[in-house]
Amino acid sequence: MQPRPYDIAQDRPNQEAAAISVVVPMYNEVSVLDTFFARVEPVLEAVADSYEILCVNDGSRDGTLPALLNHRARNPRIKVIDLARNFGKEQALTAGLDAAIGDAVIPMDADLQDPPELIADFIGKWREGFDVVYGVRRSRDSDSPVKRATARLFYRLFNRLTALPIPENTGDFRLMDRRVVEALRNLPERNRFMKGLFSWVGFRQTGVDYDREARAAGSSTWNYWRLWNFALDGITGFSTVPLRLWSYAGAVVALAAFVYAAFLIIRTLVLGVDVPGYASLMVVILFLGGVQLISLGVIGEYLGRLYHEAKQRPTYLVGRTYGLGEDD
Ligand code: UDP
Ligand code: MG
Repeated sequence: MQPRPYDIAQDRPNQEAAAISVVVPMYNEVSVLDTFFARVEPVLEAVADSYEILCVNDGSRDGTLPALLNHRARNPRIKVIDLARNFGKEQALTAGLDAAIGDAVIPMDADLQDPPELIADFIGKWREGFDVVYGVRRSRDSDSPVKRATARLFYRLFNRLTALPIPENTGDFRLMDRRVVEALRNLPERNRFMKGLFSWVGFRQTGVDYDREARAAGSSTWNYWRLWNFALDGITGFSTVPLRLWSYAGAVVALAAFVYAAFLIIRTLVLGVDVPGYASLMVVILFLGGVQLISLGVIGEYLGRLYHEAKQRPTYLVGRTYGLGEDD
């Protein structure tokens, strides 16, 4: 298997042992940090004799990094990966998963929408023998109706197109056994649609219900355009149905054209030549032109992604680390 060209674990081995790793991607989260650590640390102290909180600073511009370093001075179990720039949540999460050394790894958001208290339940299920324990949002009351409706539509479409069911209403908040994390790290692709990859690796999975709260502070950086592109990444990353669709669409259009041609020939033989036909010609030309452009666009979506993968660029770049390897 071909590994990804850069993996933080190769040059910054994480040396301090930890049973549980919590991985937190952070982009401009300075306003929630104090509450975040105040809620997460007691939970981890209670459930594990050793733990690490791996904070991946995803190119924040608001002083998240100095705030994180202050917390690290207080509690050395807080380790920090400072990415070279903003790479996006999936990439930040990948960096954190690469560096994490816990027997169990728990990715979670910094904004406390994922209640840390649930970690105790995750660990309980893990000890029962499950490899993956994911959080299932019982209600999405904190999301707007439009976001809920589009999310439902996305899950339906994704599960239809990919034969790879991702459980509805789950996010990245979950516990993964070390074996699962190693499997994920060995996936070579740069398109890190984590929800899909989590499901792709399989293993014994189970869910735990929870209520998703509103963001503790700060604001979400996910607008609809970003979500739309995220959805495209997800679908193109796991399904080729959109590509194959055009063979069938082409067959249907060709068949219809054949039937219509037969009709025109017979009508001309019976009724003679009939010149007016501008409107129908235009309709057919425009329709076919549109269909061809759409299919080219779909091919382009895949080609573009193929191009990104072919360049073999790293998924993320690390600026500095605090608490890993020799840095600090
Ligand atoms: N995040 C990140 N990089 C980004 C955008 C977001 O690391 O470019 C982090 C963010 O700090 C948070 C998590 O991803 O910990 C989820 O982001 P957010 O709460 O904005 O998304 P939502 O909950 O609305 O889906
Ligand atoms: Mg959030």
